[in-house]
Amino acid sequence: MKWIEDELRKLEDRSLNRSLQISATVSGHQGYVLRRQKTLLDLSSNDYLGLARHPAIAAAMTQALLAEGTGSGASRLITGNRPPYGRLEDALAAWQQSEAALVFANGYMANLGVIQALAGRGDVVFSDRLNHASIVDGIGLSRAEHVRYRHNDMEHLRLLLYKHRDAGRKLIVTDAVFSMDGDQAPLAELVALKREYGAILMVDEAHSGGVYGARGEGLCHALGLQSGVDVHVGTFSKAFGVYGAYVSGSRTLIRWLVNKARPVIYSTALPPSVIAGITEALNLVQTERHRRERLAASSRQFRSSLRMAGFQVGPGDSPIVPVVVGDNATALRFSSALEAEGIAAVAVRPPTVPDGTARIRFSLSAAHTPDDLADAANRIERVALRLGVLAQ
Ligand SMILES: *Cc1c(COP(=O)(O)O)cnc(C)c1O
Repeated sequence: MKWIEDELRKLEDRSLNRSLQISATVSGHQGYVLRRQKTLLDLSSNDYLGLARHPAIAAAMTQALLAEGTGSGASRLITGNRPPYGRLEDALAAWQQSEAALVFANGYMANLGVIQALAGRGDVVFSDRLNHASIVDGIGLSRAEHVRYRHNDMEHLRLLLYKHRDAGRKLIVTDAVFSMDGDQAPLAELVALKREYGAILMVDEAHSGGVYGARGEGLCHALGLQSGVDVHVGTFSKAFGVYGAYVSGSRTLIRWLVNKARPVIYSTALPPSVIAGITEALNLVQTERHRRERLAASSRQFRSSLRMAGFQVGPGDSPIVPVVVGDNATALRFSSALEAEGIAAVAVRPPTVPDGTARIRFSLSAAHTPDDLADAANRIERVALRLGVLAQ
């Protein structure tokens, strides 16, 4: 196995090595992490609504844990399908205004399972070039032809749909909000194109579920496009502050997934405590609107501070604010200098992002105060000037 050591050395030489760092919670301080004995403002996690330490969710989980035990014991098609599962799925369908919903173990498995169930040999999956890795992996496992279109480029997608108009089934997949760029997919145009070419449209709301929509339903709902989207995927690991994922759509779709989605069939059901936590989080996501409002205001404030400092940041109010520096080593230096200044903001490098676009991906949470963020923006500017990331 010496080849592994050689390969690891190559990764190090290109500043692409990854290693696990311990990040501990800081008691009484949401929105902060403890790393190497230092308390840091957490600008890297995806706890968008600040729900990850909500006492009502913790209480619901504890109660279910004591009443129902630690594990569900089997997959849902065997004996793991406890009553709270069905109740949660009914609530999810009502929230999504869809006929039905299905819970998955996490977003990664939801994307693998759904894409494999909907596309196979002879079919074509059209996928935005910046889609999440779980979508890329799902397409690989499906054995369908993988056709990538340029990021958010609808003319390119149209050309490719036309070129493959005689293929078997056609599935278009996109992130609603892109995980490393924080920008939005052109959903209205995607709905129009999928209709024109008779394709299925699947939208991954991992970073927009809970964040957009009057009751946090997601970006499709916020834009009034939910009925034009055939397959909605969302995760409970980010804005919901728990763990797990959902797919919502027609009754037929969900019946098909119960029969064909391998992660549902061949993997143990989530523990009852997690289902209880998600159920409580779903209540809070719908009712605690102030969290969404705070998050959107924070995003606008933080973006505008960075822009005034001279950074190029995109428009909008998504909680993901990337600062692209380009080079891997510079991104790593920027990240460690920020850590020294009390900010946890990890460097994101290839293959997570395209070559030459290494970046710091700042992500915001309703747990951050306006003061936290104003202060962070000042420190980020100072570090960037010192490192030459920003011109003096
Ligand atoms: C995080 C993420 C996932 C995976 O969700 P998990 O629940 O963390 O497995 C899927 N899609 C996108 C776009 C994501 O950002």
